[in-house]
Amino acid sequence: MTRIACLLATAALAALPVSAWSDQGHRLAARGAVKDLPPDAAMWFRTLEGRMADHASDPDAWKVTDPSEHPRHHLDCEPYGGPGNVPLDEDAARNQVGPDRFQASGQVPWTILARVEELTRAFSTQDPYEVVFQASILSHYVADLQVPLHTTANHNGDETGQHGVHHRWERGLVERIVEREGWVPEVRPAVLGPEPAKAPWAWLRQSHNLVAGLLRDDLGARLGPPEKGQAEQDAYWTAFMELQGPHVKEQLNLAAQRTAEMILYAWTRAGKPRPPVAYPTGSAQPSR
Ligand SMILES: [Zn+2]
Ligand SMILES: [Zn+2]
Repeated sequence: MTRIACLLATAALAALPVSAWSDQGHRLAARGAVKDLPPDAAMWFRTLEGRMADHASDPDAWKVTDPSEHPRHHLDCEPYGGPGNVPLDEDAARNQVGPDRFQASGQVPWTILARVEELTRAFSTQDPYEVVFQASILSHYVADLQVPLHTTANHNGDETGQHGVHHRWERGLVERIVEREGWVPEVRPAVLGPEPAKAPWAWLRQSHNLVAGLLRDDLGARLGPPEKGQAEQDAYWTAFMELQGPHVKEQLNLAAQRTAEMILYAWTRAGKPRPPVAYPTGSAQPSR
């Protein structure tokens, strides 16, 4: 690639909205979540796993038409003074940092709870298509919260001179893991904790704790500027994969398991309904 082409490609990447995991990663998390459900809840998804995967990236597309969609995918901890200081209550959070900063710094934990509400309603309607659609959308936001760089204002490394680290971690490494290794999340049965409505804040703390190591490893792997030779580029990816590949896999495992936990939460709140007897065969799915 010429230098001009490189610059154009970099500019095009920079113009893309922040979209975690790439479509591949979101699909893996959504399909993995179904495998982590106990049999009674998994019955709702038994012929609709394709639908579960197909809608898992829809919220990224919504950013194009809805200006308030973008901040639903992240939460910067810095305005709150760290991940341990983010209030559970949305109004309290808004009051703490002011409405403008609240809007700009992201709302992913509250978005997850709002999506649990939607899924609870869907279970109550007894409509499997709606259940699977809402579960798929929920999976997107849960997966986004497992991306460490979605919890910091330095989301693309610009504050530390590491521009593009966002894509390198959640796309570059995911593509290598999925396409070259054929990796899929391991099955980890979901457990509904005692206070599931507080779980996203625990995930936020855990995810944020990975930020410093991720940035350190990106520097340690030393990606040269775009015009550097292929050998340097290859050396970077080998080193970055060795250092951060295990974290990418673990965060995808957690994205699947934690999505399943939130599905269980909604299903339990709806009274653990059984799917209707006339369950779709999966052949003629309505588009949405
Ligand atoms: Zn997203
Ligand atoms: Zn992202």
